[in-house]
Amino acid sequence: MKMSKMLMPTLREVPADAEITSHQLMLRAGMIKKMSSGIYNQLPMGLRVFKKIEDIIREELEKKGCQEILCAGLIPAELWKESGRWDVMGAEMFRLKDRTQRDYCLGPTHEEVFTDIIRQEITSYKQLPLNIYQIQVKYRDERRPRFGVMRTKTFTMKDAYSFDVDEAGLDKSYQDMYDAYRSIFERCGLENSPVQADSGAIGGSTSAEFMVKSPVGEDEIVFCAECDYAANIEKAESVSAVLPKEEMKELNPVHTPGVTTIEQLEEFFGVTADKLAKTLIYEADGKTVVVLVRGDREVNEVKVCNAIGEVIEFDLAREEVVRELTNAEVGFAGPIGMKADYIFIDKEVAEQSNIGVGGNKTDYHIQNANFGRDFEGVVGDFRSVQEGDKCICCGASLEIARGVEVGHIFKLGTKYSESMGANFIDKDGKSKPIVMGCYGIGVERTAAAIIEQHNDENGIMWPLSVAPYHLVVVPVNIKKEEQMEAAEKLYNELQSMGVEVLLDDRDERVGVKFKDSELIGIPMRITVGKDITDGKVEFKLRDQSDKELVSLEDIKARVEVEFTKNNVKLG
Ligand code: ATP
Ligand code: MG
Repeated sequence: MKMSKMLMPTLREVPADAEITSHQLMLRAGMIKKMSSGIYNQLPMGLRVFKKIEDIIREELEKKGCQEILCAGLIPAELWKESGRWDVMGAEMFRLKDRTQRDYCLGPTHEEVFTDIIRQEITSYKQLPLNIYQIQVKYRDERRPRFGVMRTKTFTMKDAYSFDVDEAGLDKSYQDMYDAYRSIFERCGLENSPVQADSGAIGGSTSAEFMVKSPVGEDEIVFCAECDYAANIEKAESVSAVLPKEEMKELNPVHTPGVTTIEQLEEFFGVTADKLAKTLIYEADGKTVVVLVRGDREVNEVKVCNAIGEVIEFDLAREEVVRELTNAEVGFAGPIGMKADYIFIDKEVAEQSNIGVGGNKTDYHIQNANFGRDFEGVVGDFRSVQEGDKCICCGASLEIARGVEVGHIFKLGTKYSESMGANFIDKDGKSKPIVMGCYGIGVERTAAAIIEQHNDENGIMWPLSVAPYHLVVVPVNIKKEEQMEAAEKLYNELQSMGVEVLLDDRDERVGVKFKDSELIGIPMRITVGKDITDGKVEFKLRDQSDKELVSLEDIKARVEVEFTKNNVKLG
């Protein structure tokens, strides 16, 4: 491509509303253009990268025997009503009506559509297993679209769905996808780690997220310092830190005027926070939920929602609800005598003796509360892991890092096949529900994550595998015939080798050309300058500062070396 003919609106200035590096660089490199909040159009430089990522995904999935299809984005509500998700998806789903008032949505995901296709086509175990996928646009009315294409209202997702006769089959399909994802992200140049994840509203049991560690990540990931344990904070567990048992003491109500926070209580009673319990009150779809964790812990709301089952709206209770439940001002809630639709007690609180709690009476707390004797509730793990907690696998210390979720794989089981009647006749002649898995990758978010890991102060440093173009040929002065001729010749020859080449034939200063190619992150640069009189050009890699003077005879071989080194096929 000749750069004089390209739509490539690069920016020198950092756009004011772009907070993170990848967003700034995508805008500055002219890859994307904002249309409205959370809605971006893709320009040539961006589209080429996204297509490269899609091709890597295709290649790795097809190696595992997956087949590509393409579904419509407009989905009739009936399918979602069948699965029971029409009412569960909440505000994130874009809903609309046609001229006859029939309900539709713009697909935020496609479990229902794929299940519908399969139930019409599959009747026998002989037709299974199957794994089909699409690379298609999704629509989600995100509460907070942000960080450029990291979180948008419309984005490209690769979504794959596996269909098996039994759990063992699903285990294999899941493992195949796990392996394919590792290869995909590795080929994209992403350092990433699969972590155990919560399955959320989509249903199912086992799930893993592919996380790219990055300070701009919206997720928190818990890692063990010693073993392989890694999990999203929503799901992560740690060993309960229970204090030594004591003999149960008598309940002791204490007048604590104006003392409401854990810090104030620590000071008032002269104890550490682990001798106190926090009582938090939530509302879940109109039901009251009380959760107790130790004073030095935080409630894990995802674990609480999972314990309830299907929850759409979940939030801290309004003050009037707290007052009504506790018969007290806010700040004095406690478990003793508490009545609520759900009462959840974290294991650490349940196992601890003589803990301090709120009195359910304004200006009162109670010392020496003991689970079983003074209060009841469902005991479980309702706390978030904290840095330094002990690993449940090996006992070593846990660490917390931020990550960007680029992919997610789930074992769905029979949730959709049962609700939507996707059955097959097994070898034994019995009709059984198909066992499913689903697997997603966000294409644009993956590109943004790559930029987060591959950039410097001059711009993007694309790995060769996903670069919009492999190489740029820069004639120093387009008015010098000899330079321009040699540059054009190289451009043509490299292209016929299968190299994706840009020719910077713009009438600009060479400094401007270098700046642009560095900003857009082209991995290789060949500069044709005055050394062309000796048959030599300058070769430079984007991620290295050295420049090599290479003769025209050797330059193609030099370029080829980079393809071999980076394991990228030519052509
Ligand atoms: P998140 O927790 O970030 O909202 P999710 O769990 O909703 O993600 P999935 O439904 O598993 O995401 O979608 C699969 C993949 O699609 C994600 O791993 C991510 O790469 C991408 N993705 C999801 N939501 C968005 C979005 N709003 N914008 C861009 N990419 C997205
Ligand atoms: Mg989401």
